[in-house]
Amino acid sequence: PYQPGDVAYLREFAYRAALALDNARLYEEAQAANRAKADFLAVMSHELRTPLNAIIGFADLLQAEIAGPVNEEQRRQLDRIVASAQHQLSLIDEVLTYARTEAGWEAIAPVEVDLRDVAMEAVEVIRPLAEEKGLAFEVDLPDEPVPIRTDQTKARQILINLLSNAVKFTEEGRVSLRMRRDGEGAVIDVSDTGIGIEPEAQQRIFEPFVQVEEALTREKGGTGLGLAVAHRLTRMLGGTVTLESEPGVGSTFTVRLPSLPVGKKPSGSGEPREAA
Ligand code: ADP
Repeated sequence: PYQPGDVAYLREFAYRAALALDNARLYEEAQAANRAKADFLAVMSHELRTPLNAIIGFADLLQAEIAGPVNEEQRRQLDRIVASAQHQLSLIDEVLTYARTEAGWEAIAPVEVDLRDVAMEAVEVIRPLAEEKGLAFEVDLPDEPVPIRTDQTKARQILINLLSNAVKFTEEGRVSLRMRRDGEGAVIDVSDTGIGIEPEAQQRIFEPFVQVEEALTREKGGTGLGLAVAHRLTRMLGGTVTLESEPGVGSTFTVRLPSLPVGKKPSGSGEPREAA
């Protein structure tokens, strides 16, 4: 025979089991909603790229005077069309990369590279933006090659995202990129003398869509995905990204990248995930 204590105990047990089942169901629904969001973003951003590439392509043709001579004023306006379209393309690409990592479609393709070359590719993309704002841009790379096995496109994207933030959130002073070898891998510091980040925000900003400024009063543009993408890509490459920052003084983001072993399987399948 059950004692009243046993009944109370079993009732409590049943209550908790029901709660756990409920939580599991809610978790599964939330996961499905998240996947639907990622799939939507991936499809949407992919579709948006196609007409944008046409806009850039035809503006290029006009600039090359294929359709006839272009005067100074027209050339200035064409430059603006191309610059805005390129900017929009980079925002769309950021959303697309985020959605692909979220959906598990992103795969890594490791090759042997001199990481200094990858860093210089990123520097060349961002340097003009720093110059436009009158910021000094310091680059400090080892004299010897830094050979590592990694995914070149993803490593470049990580550095571009960090450098473009450094420029975006700095009004005076300098932006810098420093690289040093670390065993088989490398460590890269991206520093700025910008607005810095409050300690309580330092963990959150690596989450998708998190921006320190209130969305409605934002002065700087951006999707809020740059750091989330940099963080995810670094993890895919077996590395880490950490942050040290002091409000009003500046920030340093440190990326550590290992050399990937030969024969390592890509961490994403490259194929759409099966529906749950
Ligand atoms: P965003 O598109 O807004 O730049 P990110 O994910 O790249 O999105 O960055 C998230 C937020 O982190 C930014 O909105 C900004 O508030 C803060 N942040 C990122 N990098 C820096 C930096 N170098 N200096 C100051 N704040 C930064």
